[in-house]
Amino acid sequence: MNLHEYQSKTLFREYGIPVPEGRVATDVDSAVAAARELGGGLWVVKAQAHTGGRGKAGGVKLARSLEEVGAAAREMLGMRLITRQTGPEGLPVNAVLVEQGSDIQRELYLGALLDRASSRITFMASAAGGMNIEEVAAQTPDKIVTTAVDPAAGLQPWQGRHLAYSLGLAGDQVKAFGHILAALYRLYLDKDVSLIEINPLIVTGEGELVALDAKINIDDSGLYRHPDIQALRDVSQEDAREAAAAEHDLNYISLDGNIGCMVNGAGLAMATMDLVKLEGGEPANFLDVGGGTTAERVTEAFKLILSDPKVRVVLVNIFGGIVRCDLIAEGIITAARGLGMKVPVVVRLQGTNASKGLAMLEESGLDFITAEDFTEAARRAVAAATQGDEQ
Ligand code: GDP
Ligand code: MN
Repeated sequence: MNLHEYQSKTLFREYGIPVPEGRVATDVDSAVAAARELGGGLWVVKAQAHTGGRGKAGGVKLARSLEEVGAAAREMLGMRLITRQTGPEGLPVNAVLVEQGSDIQRELYLGALLDRASSRITFMASAAGGMNIEEVAAQTPDKIVTTAVDPAAGLQPWQGRHLAYSLGLAGDQVKAFGHILAALYRLYLDKDVSLIEINPLIVTGEGELVALDAKINIDDSGLYRHPDIQALRDVSQEDAREAAAAEHDLNYISLDGNIGCMVNGAGLAMATMDLVKLEGGEPANFLDVGGGTTAERVTEAFKLILSDPKVRVVLVNIFGGIVRCDLIAEGIITAARGLGMKVPVVVRLQGTNASKGLAMLEESGLDFITAEDFTEAARRAVAAATQGDEQ
């Protein structure tokens, strides 16, 4: 789960990481009131959407008067922000963060993630802050310095000094940097974080370190331990179908193709997508209904797949190991009757009671395309999807 910048900055403040003074606003009047309250003569208005690259996309604006604050907020609120990370449909902006403007001397990068190769939380720092860090990593990897934390020993003071010196910090800044690093590490562990980024971490005109931007992703598997963080979820920033799937414990990821896939088990789901691609088709989604699925979940899964206007054919691929294929067939028939067969449905059943399940589908009077063989099922689904093209 992703947090908004303003939510991440609230956590930063709790952990003693310096951030600019700011207020979040959901309408123009309160944005102007927030700026008036903050005082000073320079503000920055920042669109709150789950994406980076906002600066280049008109989602971060400096304002030198309350009128300019109002104008920036008016422009951003209600817009869909399109950045290099969002795709062409962009993300809705329902809130802006109004902050006191900062005087920037240097922009640094500081991030932490779990490095799966070493199984350690790893900090990354770079003097090339404020830039797209993926680009820095690809073009000038030597500009990124990393340090991995031994989980038994915890973060060591030398690691902070090592990164600080490599960033060209000196004197009190080294100490301040060490505090920020230690706070990030505590926050990372306490909240089951999977990624933290401060880009940029700035050195101000007075030489202070301040987190100007903040990005936190929380590990979904740890979310049940953090009701306070769950409350920060903003579904307007998430794929609507993925959010609906999460409600029904379905493992669903939206993709670009036109073959809706319903499969039990993540491994079989991946193999199904591979086979669809091998036959020249494109899956519309990844969907694992779970190993021990029920007729009700099959119905929910069907609804989800059919709500995607891209879908031209549904491919059901169920292996009856824990579940019985006749029960699944019953679920498929109920779902198809209830929702209507708007597109062809190819069903491959294999395993416990497979022939009974296939017979039920045949006898249902509905127009299922059935198959016992996996390759044949994929081929038929691709054929049904491309038939639509020729019409
Ligand atoms: P992102 O583009 O989504 O990563 O948004 P950021 O919060 O990182 O802002 C983008 C850029 O806007 C920063 O790298 C800064 O150069 C600039 N910026 C943000 N806040 C301020 C500010 O208070 N003062 C000044 N001068 N520039 C700012
Ligand atoms: Mn940024």
